[in-house]
Amino acid sequence: MHYFEYKKDELYCEDVPIREIVKKTKTPVYIYSYKTLERHFKVFDKAFEKIPHLICYSCKANSNIAIMSIFRNLGGGADIVSGGELYRALKANIPADRIVYSGVGKTEEELKTAIKANILMINIESEGELDALIQLSSRLKKEVRVSIRVNPQIDPKTHPYITTGLKKNKFGIIWDEALKLYRKMKNYKYIIPVGISSHIGSQILELSPFLEAVKSLKNMLYQLKTMGFEIKYLDIGGGLGITYKDEKAPHPEEYGDAIIKEIKDTGVTLILEPGRVIVGNSGILVTRVLYIKNVPGKTFVIVDGAMNDLIRPSLYGAYHEILPVTKHNTKKKRVDIVGPICESGDFFAKDRPFFEVERGEFIAVYGAGAYGFSMSSNYNSRPRAPEVLVKDDEFYVIRKRETKRDLIKGESIPDFLRL
Ligand code: PLP
Repeated sequence: MHYFEYKKDELYCEDVPIREIVKKTKTPVYIYSYKTLERHFKVFDKAFEKIPHLICYSCKANSNIAIMSIFRNLGGGADIVSGGELYRALKANIPADRIVYSGVGKTEEELKTAIKANILMINIESEGELDALIQLSSRLKKEVRVSIRVNPQIDPKTHPYITTGLKKNKFGIIWDEALKLYRKMKNYKYIIPVGISSHIGSQILELSPFLEAVKSLKNMLYQLKTMGFEIKYLDIGGGLGITYKDEKAPHPEEYGDAIIKEIKDTGVTLILEPGRVIVGNSGILVTRVLYIKNVPGKTFVIVDGAMNDLIRPSLYGAYHEILPVTKHNTKKKRVDIVGPICESGDFFAKDRPFFEVERGEFIAVYGAGAYGFSMSSNYNSRPRAPEVLVKDDEFYVIRKRETKRDLIKGESIPDFLRL
């Protein structure tokens, strides 16, 4: 469900014609709908209203501080995976006691900043990380609340690149090892074990892997309780999938009901780390047709957006719905929609029946709100696209287009190379 709709033949975001936005920002441009973001967050939040819970929005999906501020205002926190994301979360004024920190490779510097910021919980992913926390917390003489991210060894049946809870994955710690680490924590007064966490993967379209994971977390929780640990938080990560094409994703309400049934008697606060399900369908990438190129047996629609702007099709072969911003033609033709980057993998769609479009037209790539801008890069020295937030009949540029100067920011030519 989203607020990108055609009025007559013109695509609008809420009450603003897309054309009006691109007139100001040019293309490519990311456009997000406030009403959609708000609605998705509220629906997800409501699904868990019957139990104590905290929604730590997984800001890797879209880390613009304006977007993070929306969820802060709705009572949400942040799931972070780097010092940079911690910086963003604090800049978005997310209270530290609503921030959880996962990630297999947190540096000492990052851990130190998180301890000092007194965030809700650091999700430990290896014994080495626990040792680093033991050292840092005693050096700083500061308590740190922790959980262990366990690897429940469950197949979430999603793309291998976004599967994280299998034995062969680098994430989390298997339960026997985790138990040893919990025991070890008892010897260190600044290490306060308060939770258990897991995250099994992303774009998961079935409830069963989540339930399997929650059931095993629940067993672990009871085991820890009998060992005298006061575990307050069960963090089940994110991963709920969305519809990009015709996938049938479980409704958050269904997901909520199933999970609540499992954990309602445990007395813990549930932490959720949704990313994609909140922001995925709340954003589009608008790009302009530069050229139509016909080669024997094939037509390429060459647009000004590229894999550096939205890498999902190139990286995972991901499908994104694509529609013209102005509908004027019902005739379709099989085309590849490609960007200007010097890689054959630079495409948004392959061999897809698409409305006949002309040079200069705008097209909208749907489902670009999650892992879109946040995965973008400057590859081929392309300045990153601007981001726009629409609310009702107003729009706000929440990130300016990068300039050429931005491209070389921080670079320098050593004296021996100067002319
Ligand atoms: N939590 C953790 C630890 C993650 O690694 C991720 C994504 O990779 C998420 C939450 C968010 O996942 P999703 O966007 O699928 O909800």
